[in-house]
Amino acid sequence: MKAIRSNGSPARSLIAALALSALVGCQTVRTTESGVVGVDRPQRMSTLVSSEKFNQDAAGAYQKVLGDAAKKGQLNLDRGQVERVRSIARRLVPSTVVFRRDAARWGWEINVITSNEVNAWCMPGGKIAVYTGLIAKLSPTDDELAAVMGHEIAHALREHSREQYSQAVAQGILIDILGAATGASTSAQNTSQLFLELFVNRPHSRTDETEADRIGVELAARSGFDPRAAVTLWKKMGKLGGDKPPEWLSTHPSDQSRVRDLQVYSERVLPLYEETQRKR
Ligand SMILES: [Zn+2]
Repeated sequence: MKAIRSNGSPARSLIAALALSALVGCQTVRTTESGVVGVDRPQRMSTLVSSEKFNQDAAGAYQKVLGDAAKKGQLNLDRGQVERVRSIARRLVPSTVVFRRDAARWGWEINVITSNEVNAWCMPGGKIAVYTGLIAKLSPTDDELAAVMGHEIAHALREHSREQYSQAVAQGILIDILGAATGASTSAQNTSQLFLELFVNRPHSRTDETEADRIGVELAARSGFDPRAAVTLWKKMGKLGGDKPPEWLSTHPSDQSRVRDLQVYSERVLPLYEETQRKR
């Protein structure tokens, strides 16, 4: 839950906070097991939208993206590329059960979209897209591609989007409460604009990025990909310049602290990777 905005007295803030918790059904959940990387932050989720409903909506949005890409002749054009990305996903997905068992039953889908954008994402419920721009401009090794996909999958496992939505709902209602309390005018339109701003336009938080980085390297290591590739990929990306950075390389956390964190956590999960190599 976000900090309460207050333009009144502490007492008024307290009343607003109590009203908020009464009105907005929120519960504290653990979306994932903590893994070797130890991601264990409790999350506040709205009870208004369940995981299942959220994943269903995401699946609908995913079909729309694929349909639009297909119409423009931009879907899965290069069979070799599609097979490469899918085979990496086939190795990563079984490792997701370490973090959450139900992920094994998700309707995982992996598709390649033709676009100059250096980008990749995983929608809630396991709907993945990799853009050809990422492959063309970074020439990633399989380990590096696994680093990107592991990071995106981690966002989905942690349900970061539903968490953002929960915060947006809470804030939207909170603005109304404060408006009523202070006599300020608020309208439904303002609230929906706020919602759009928070949910659709807001990038992942620094905390979410760090969690996805850490879980991502563990997923890669457990799946037999060298987790240190997350660091080399970051460095390649830094040399690109010019282009808008993909979601997973968004400007926060800062480049340096991110690389340091990735170095620490990729070393921590290295024994998991080495174990997979001994079994080969
Ligand atoms: Zn990310």
